[in-house]
Amino acid sequence: MSARCYELKQKLDSLHREFTQEIAKAATEQQLRKVFADYGGSAGSIRLAQKDALRSAPNAEKKSIGQLTNEVVQAVEAEFERRLAGLAEEERKRDLERTADVTLPGRKRVLGHLHPITLVRREITAIFAQLGFVVAEGPQIETDFHNFEALAIPKDHPARDMQDTFYVEGHEDLVLRTHTSPVQIRTMLSGAPPVRVIAPGPVYRKDDDPTHSPMFNQIEGLCVDQGITFADLKGTLLHFVQRFFGADFQVRLRPSFFPFTEPSAEIDMSCAFCRGQGCRTCKGTGWMEIGGSGMVDPEVFRHVGYDSEKYTGFAFGMGIDRMAMLRYRINDIKLMFDGDVRFVRQFR
Ligand SMILES: [Zn+2]
Repeated sequence: MSARCYELKQKLDSLHREFTQEIAKAATEQQLRKVFADYGGSAGSIRLAQKDALRSAPNAEKKSIGQLTNEVVQAVEAEFERRLAGLAEEERKRDLERTADVTLPGRKRVLGHLHPITLVRREITAIFAQLGFVVAEGPQIETDFHNFEALAIPKDHPARDMQDTFYVEGHEDLVLRTHTSPVQIRTMLSGAPPVRVIAPGPVYRKDDDPTHSPMFNQIEGLCVDQGITFADLKGTLLHFVQRFFGADFQVRLRPSFFPFTEPSAEIDMSCAFCRGQGCRTCKGTGWMEIGGSGMVDPEVFRHVGYDSEKYTGFAFGMGIDRMAMLRYRINDIKLMFDGDVRFVRQFR
C-alpha cells in the first residue's frame, strides 16, 4: 500500500470511529440522519477525504482509493441502517408502554337509565297485563267528540271551560286531550266487547302548582263484558294497590260524580305516608285520593254503539305521576319534568 493510501486509510478509520460514536448519541431519527449525512453522505467528510486523496493521486492509485473509501461508506451505511431500526424499535416499545398499561383501572362509562315516571308506568302496566288488560293508545291532540261529547260531557260542563282545556288555535274542534278517557271511546268504536284495555299517557290541563303540572300522565282502565259489576271494579283496584304499594294497603270507593260513569266513585287508598294511621299529608284521615272510577254510563255505550242492556263495564283513571310521587315520596311534581339529572339519577 502506498503512503498516500495508508494515510487515507488512517483518516477513514478515524472518521469511521467518530461516526460510530456520534450515531450512538443520536436519540432521534432526525439527529441520526444528520450524522449520517455529515459522514457518509455525498458531501460528507468521508467523501471529502476521498476527494482530497484523489486530487494528487496518480491514476494507478485511484482505483485503490475508490475501493478503500467505498468499503468504509458501506460499513457506515450498514451501521446507520441498524441504528435506525434500533431507534424505531425503542420508539415502538415506548408507545406500547404509554398506551397499553394493562394494570390501569378501566374507565367507567355513565349508563343511562329510565325516568321514574317510565319505571312506574311500566310497573303499573305490567300489573294490569297480568289481569288480562292490554295497552291501548290514542292521539294527544283529540277531537271534541272523543275528548268530551262521546264521554257524555255536556257543553256547559266546567271541564270544557277555557280555564281548564288547551284548545288548538284555529281549530275549535281540536283540544290537547284533558284525560286518557278518549282512548276508551276509540277502543270501543274499533271493536265489539269484551274489552279489557289499559291506556297510559300524557294529558294536558291548565293547572300549575306543586301538585299539578300542565302536562301530566294518566293511566286509564276500561273493562266491558257481560256481567261486569262494581265488585269487579273494586277487586281490580284493590289488587293493583296491594301489588304496587304493599299487601297492607286498602282501597276505599267514595261516591262522586263523573259525566261518563254511573255510579261514580273517587278512589282512595291508605295514606302512603302514615299507612292509614293519620298524618298531616292525609289531614288525619288515613286516606288519600288517587283517581276516579265508576261503571260506564249507558250514554257512553250509546255513542259507541254497544248494547247497554247486554253489556256493563267499569272504567278508572289514575295519575301515574302521583303514583310515582307516592312511591318515591316526592313532594313537587315539577321535579319530574325539570330534567335535572341529579334528581333523575336517584331512581336507578
Ligand atoms: Zn297519612
